[in-house]
Amino acid sequence: MSVFETVPEGTGLAVHNPATGALIATVRDYAPAEIAAIIDAADAARPAWAAETAKARAAVLRRWYALIMERQEELAALITAECGKPLAEARGEVAYGASFIEWFAEEAKRAYGETVPTFAVGKRVLTIKQPVGTCAAITPWNFPIAMITRKVGPALAAGCSIVVKPAEATPLSALALETLAREAGVPADLFRVTPSNDPAGVGALFCHHPKVRKLSFTGSTRVGKILMAQAAENVTRLSLELGGNAPFIVFDDADLDAAADGLMASKFRNAGQTCVCANRVLVQDSVHDAFVERLRAKVAALVVGDGAAPGTTIGPLINAAAVEKVESLVGDALAGGATALMGGHRSDVGASFFEPTVLAGVNPQMAIATSEIFGPVVPLIRFKDEDQAVRIANDTPFGLAAYFFARDLGRVWRVMEALEYGMVGVNDGIISTEVAPFGGIKQSGLGREGSRHGLDEYLELKYCLMGGI
Ligand code: ADP
Repeated sequence: MSVFETVPEGTGLAVHNPATGALIATVRDYAPAEIAAIIDAADAARPAWAAETAKARAAVLRRWYALIMERQEELAALITAECGKPLAEARGEVAYGASFIEWFAEEAKRAYGETVPTFAVGKRVLTIKQPVGTCAAITPWNFPIAMITRKVGPALAAGCSIVVKPAEATPLSALALETLAREAGVPADLFRVTPSNDPAGVGALFCHHPKVRKLSFTGSTRVGKILMAQAAENVTRLSLELGGNAPFIVFDDADLDAAADGLMASKFRNAGQTCVCANRVLVQDSVHDAFVERLRAKVAALVVGDGAAPGTTIGPLINAAAVEKVESLVGDALAGGATALMGGHRSDVGASFFEPTVLAGVNPQMAIATSEIFGPVVPLIRFKDEDQAVRIANDTPFGLAAYFFARDLGRVWRVMEALEYGMVGVNDGIISTEVAPFGGIKQSGLGREGSRHGLDEYLELKYCLMGGI
């Protein structure tokens, strides 16, 4: 079975391998008007699905989960081909993505309402939770499977229908997910994937279509703001997972080896192209040089190459524009007085590759420290004390993930509480898991994905008052 359908070259959305530039496939390009009809069909399919028990829906979702895991290798190869990440990371993404389907299949069985002690004799107060309705989602290219399953898993488990527009660069693994969902028994119109070369048109449709009750978006803060403004028209419910500017703080009492390992995991995953990647590395003066020494050894061991080649740890960036952006941020930092301890330039492996880079002497006002780098660059910023570190860390409109390494228990609590972020990794550089609530504050977004809270994003809470008792 082919996991996605193609159309003749030149007639649809062309998907290229970022490592080689080669055309992988051309898939159907849906116009907003076609997607409007697909939303109507999704809305029509919804009542029958919502009327099933949570257990019956869970049985279908568990089959979908199992099929994804059976095809892990094939899906991982697809992710690597269209998004570039090393195969080992792509395998990890398939398992991580599938975990949301398993998790929410289980969790939806526990979407409890409550009875509330009454406020008046002869009256009773209770709440029930019901599916939001027909949903829409717009997803990015950096996790082409996981960013979809963490929306579609809870939506379907809760009894909603959902139409997903994947990123233009990575529709293939999204279409493969849809095929496997169908094979698992998810009704045909209930969950649809509609790649499109007109993202703005589809975004506007999702916000204006009267049957879309909720839109979930993962992507840039710029686009998130456009969608939020458009969603005002119908007061469409929103979940937004937007950009970050993660500080990674190494205090003088940290285990420096563990901190260096944590930074490698946080910074270089997907060549630095995740919204929770360490973006600014703050190191306390007294341990700065010792930390940098450990870091250099680890960065030197990275292997830049095609993600499909054995041993590669740093794949390409998603496209040439991404390389230009990283190059210009690095250039600006160097011009402003930073020093490149390692890298600092494009890689000669190919047009979409950038050398793993370590910059010392970065100051917090430089563009590289105020914007999302989305590339394999470590900007090192020195600080003197805890207050200064927290001040620098919080001095940003973003609030997605933050990390710090410290051993002193009082400091750990103080800093954990002081960081204005939706997620804080303490002595760990990897925080993502289906069991915990993922999401940001400030301009990093609205709502949470994963965990029991992720289900509530697809449920409405209804209060019922019963009188005459
Ligand atoms: P990135 O910079 O990571 O590509 P984007 O926010 O541009 O982030 O893209 C994330 C998703 O948003 C993609 O699916 C893209 O097609 C979509 N997108 C881009 N522009 C718009 C828009 N104006 N309205 C709705 N969706 C959009």
